[in-house]
Amino acid sequence: MSGKLFVISGPSGSGKTTLVTRVLSNVENLRFSISYTTRSVRAGEVRGEHYEFVSREEFQDMIGQDFFAEWAEVHGNFYGTPRAEIEEWIETGVDVILDIDVQGARRLRGVFDGAVFIFVVPPSLEVLEQRLRDRKSEEEGDISTRLGIVKEEVACSKCYDYIIINDEAYIAAGRIEAVILSQGQGDSEDSRQRMLAATRDSRAENVYGPVFLRKFGLK
Ligand code: 5GP
Repeated sequence: MSGKLFVISGPSGSGKTTLVTRVLSNVENLRFSISYTTRSVRAGEVRGEHYEFVSREEFQDMIGQDFFAEWAEVHGNFYGTPRAEIEEWIETGVDVILDIDVQGARRLRGVFDGAVFIFVVPPSLEVLEQRLRDRKSEEEGDISTRLGIVKEEVACSKCYDYIIINDEAYIAAGRIEAVILSQGQGDSEDSRQRMLAATRDSRAENVYGPVFLRKFGLK
């Protein structure tokens, strides 16, 4: 049986990275696809673990060689998902999780059969701003650039299958795990149905509405 692709997006500071790390340690048969980027390495980041860091020239060459399943320019840097690896994993029955932006997710729609799209949001715009400041890895100007596109990104969440509100990391990670397990390849029908029921409140059509939009200054 083929593996499934789980695409995670969300504004910078939504806590996606922490959630993805938790989910990877709790769910079997799930691998993280390491993206390539032209941005510089942040403190605490490890090459080949968080990203593969390459020059803009190298990245352009890779685009020319059709190396990426998708790529996008985000906050002035290039990011791309290596194609061969995820195709191989999926073919061999391994589930794959990607952490990519909304443009990249849009490009993957319809490319991988049964791919599941999950959008992570912080509880509100104010909480997000605080998290970005606490992270202290961005310059002030960079924070305002990132906040500036948050509203646009949140508006895109409508097109995802699930919206996960990241208030408490362990709860949010549990919601993502339920989504993954509800697609369950190896699990019994009974446990799949239980997981499916657990995902109901995270379905985009049940989250995306006036109350949700107001939290992000959207109508
Ligand atoms: P950061 O620089 O904060 O690690 O990531 C910035 C944004 O780039 C995040 O929204 C992240 O999801 C996105 N991103 C990371 N890897 C990829 C990728 O391979 N493709 C695309 N399209 N976006 C990516």
